[in-house]
Order: sequence, then C-alpha cells, then structure tokens
Amino acid sequence: MNRKYAPEKRARMLYPFSLEDMFARSVRTESGCIELQGSTNQKGYTRVFVAGRPTPGHRAAYILANGAIPEGKLIMHKCDNRVCINPEHLCLGTDLENMRDCINKGRFNARSYPKHNPADVVRMYLANIPIKDIAAALGISKTTLYTSLGDTPRREPHHRS
Ligand SMILES: [Zn+2]
Repeated sequence: MNRKYAPEKRARMLYPFSLEDMFARSVRTESGCIELQGSTNQKGYTRVFVAGRPTPGHRAAYILANGAIPEGKLIMHKCDNRVCINPEHLCLGTDLENMRDCINKGRFNARSYPKHNPADVVRMYLANIPIKDIAAALGISKTTLYTSLGDTPRREPHHRS
C-alpha cells in the first residue's frame, strides 16, 4: 500500500472499475434507483469483485463516489432497495442506527445480529429503543432483557415502554 496517498484516494485506487462502469451494468428505475444487475447474496445485496474478493455493490459504489468508509460505519440504503447503487440513495450509518431503522420500518431481523448478545441489548437500550421492541426483535423476554442490562443505568421513566 502506498502511503503517500490519502485514504480516500487509496480506496479508489484499489478498484479495477469506475462508478460509470457500475452504472453501465445497472438499470435505472422510475424511483431513481440504479439497480446493479447480477447475482445477489442471501441477504439480497449485490456483489462485485475487488482484488478477487466479493464486496457488496452498494459499498463499492459509495467508496467510488465518496472515498473510504470511516471505521465502524456501514452503508445504509435510504431507498430500502438493496440492489440500488445510486450514491444519492446511500448514507453512512452505524450498526445501531441500522437496527433502529429496521425496527422503525418493521423489518428487523434478529438473525442478522448475534442472538441475545448482551452488548447489543445494552446498545439498543441506550439508544432509547422501546423495551418491547428490543425484546421482540431478539426473541427474548423483558425479564431476560433486564437481566442482560446488568448494572446499566436505568433510562428516564418517559423513555420506558
Ligand atoms: Zn435507490
């Protein structure tokens, strides 16, 4: 890796194709989504190969448009269309924001996350996600949930559910 380039430039240099190349392999929908054609993984995300390794198409598109993805961040679809690679439909989020977004949209899938991982329970709790939603999402009882919280400071009463 050449250290004289900024991370953003290095990220783009890794790619053997451009954003335009990706658009050329895509179909634009009426809603403005740019749907990358080709195979998808089990979660419905597209794949492209970068240095021989499969990479989700939307991540590649984000990097080509904006540069490196900051550590600890993931790319979320504002349009909820997993095959969309339109950079205007992509935004940076955290795992927790992604969970919140999924819960709000009623499509949280606990299997996407380690089942009943106490650290996740605490993070969701501190993000003020309603107790019943966390319990339902992870398939655990409220009692188990409160046990997992351990000595986590309790939220203000108006945040409880
Ligand atoms: Zn889209």
